[in-house]
Amino acid sequence: MKLLKKVLVTLALFLFISDISWSKPNLILISVDTLRQDHLGIYGYDRNTSPNIDRLLKSGAWFDKADCNVPLTTPSFASLMSSRYPHETGATRNGIPMLDGMETLSEILKQNGYSTAAILSNWPLKKNLSNLQKGFDLYDDKFYEKRWLFFNDERDAKEVTSLAASWLESKPKPPFLLWAHYSEPHSPYQFHRGFVFNEPNRPDTETQTKIDAYDSEVAYADSQIGILLNKIRELKLDQNSLIVFIADHGENLGEHGYLGHGRYLYQESIRIPFGVSGPGIPSNQKIESQAELLDFAPTALGYLGIPPGKMMRGRNLIQPIKGEIPWEKNRLIYLETFPGAVRGEGAQNLANTKKPIWIGFQLNEVKLLYYIPGSRWQMLNLNADPQELKNLADPANQNFILYSDHLLKWFHSWEHSIAQGNTDALTESDRKKLEALGYLNK
Ligand SMILES: [Zn+2]
Repeated sequence: MKLLKKVLVTLALFLFISDISWSKPNLILISVDTLRQDHLGIYGYDRNTSPNIDRLLKSGAWFDKADCNVPLTTPSFASLMSSRYPHETGATRNGIPMLDGMETLSEILKQNGYSTAAILSNWPLKKNLSNLQKGFDLYDDKFYEKRWLFFNDERDAKEVTSLAASWLESKPKPPFLLWAHYSEPHSPYQFHRGFVFNEPNRPDTETQTKIDAYDSEVAYADSQIGILLNKIRELKLDQNSLIVFIADHGENLGEHGYLGHGRYLYQESIRIPFGVSGPGIPSNQKIESQAELLDFAPTALGYLGIPPGKMMRGRNLIQPIKGEIPWEKNRLIYLETFPGAVRGEGAQNLANTKKPIWIGFQLNEVKLLYYIPGSRWQMLNLNADPQELKNLADPANQNFILYSDHLLKWFHSWEHSIAQGNTDALTESDRKKLEALGYLNK
C-alpha cells in the first residue's frame, strides 16, 4: 500500500513537472494558399525559399506525390474539412459556400470536446462565402475591416502568426484545434525586403519577375511560419500535437500559357506540399505513395484516435505511416475544376452551367483529363512527359478506351446531382474583391 502511494505520488509529480495532460493530442493545421510543391526546398527547388517548412516536414513524414482534388480556394478548403468532392460539398466555385449538412473535421473535434480556432487571411474563406466556420469557437476572418482601403486584401503573414501565437499563449483548454492560414503566394505577388532572389544568371523576362515575386512571398510566409513553430516549441505544444502542413492548390507560373489557378488540372496547380509531424510519427520519412487532399481529415482524426465522419472519402494515412498496414498501390485520384465566381444574373444561370469545366484522374504515371464544354480528351504520361505537353489520347488505344470509359462512368454517376451551396452569398463588395484576386468568371 505504501509502495502504491509512493508510485502514485511520483506519477502525479511527473505529470505536473512534465505538463503532460491525459487529454487527446492537439491538432495544429498550417496551410498556405496557392503554394505549389516544386517551389519548396524540400521538394527540390534550387532557391532557399522554405527553410522552416522544410525543417517541419523533415521532422515527420511528408508526401512526395500529394495532389489537391480541385485547384480553387473555397472548394478546396471545403473538401479539406469535409473530405468530400466539390460536387458533393456544394462549394463548386469561389463565392459559393458549402452546404450546411456537410460534416467537417472542426465539427467532429468540437463534438469531441476540442477548443477550436481558425486564423484566416484570404477573402474566399470569409464565413459568408465558405461556411467553413462550422465547429469553430473562433473563426477570425476580420482582416478585411482593417485593410479596407488597401488593394491587397490578404491578412499579412506577420499578423496570422501573431494572432495564432496569442491564441496559443492564452492557454486554450486542451485538447485544441488551431488552423493558421497564410495567403502570401496568392496573386498579386509582392516582393518582401530580405526575401528577394535575383541571381545574376536568371532570364530577364516578365514571367521571371513574377516568379521572383512569387518566391519572395513564399519565403516571407515561411519565415513567419518559422516564428509560429518556435512559439509552438517554446510552449512545448509540439510534445502533444499533430502538426499538419498543406496547401489548398498550386499555381501556374506561365506553364501551359497560364498564370493563376483554377482553369486547368495540370500539375503546377494540382501538386501540393503535404506532411504530418507529431509524437509517434517517424521523422525524416519521405513517402512515395500517392496521397490526396481528401486524406487530410481522416488522417488527422486517425492520429487523434477519433473515427472519421461517415461520409468522408479520404484515407487515414497514419496507419501506413506507422507501418500498421501496407501502402495502397495503384491509387486513383479524381480531379475536377469549375468556372470562376459569378454574381447576380450569372448566379441564376448557374443552374445551367454548374458542371465542371475539366474532370480527370491520376493513376500512377497516367493522367487523364476531359474538357467538358468542348468534349476534348487529354491523356498524359507524367514520367515520360512531366511538363504535360504530349497528348496521348487516341481512340484506337486500348488503355485510353478503358480509362476514358472509367472517367465518364464516374462523371455520369454524379453529373445530374451536383450539389450547390447558396449562389446568392456573393455581395457586390465580395465580387470586387474576388475580381481583384483574379477569381471572377471571364
Ligand atoms: Zn487558394
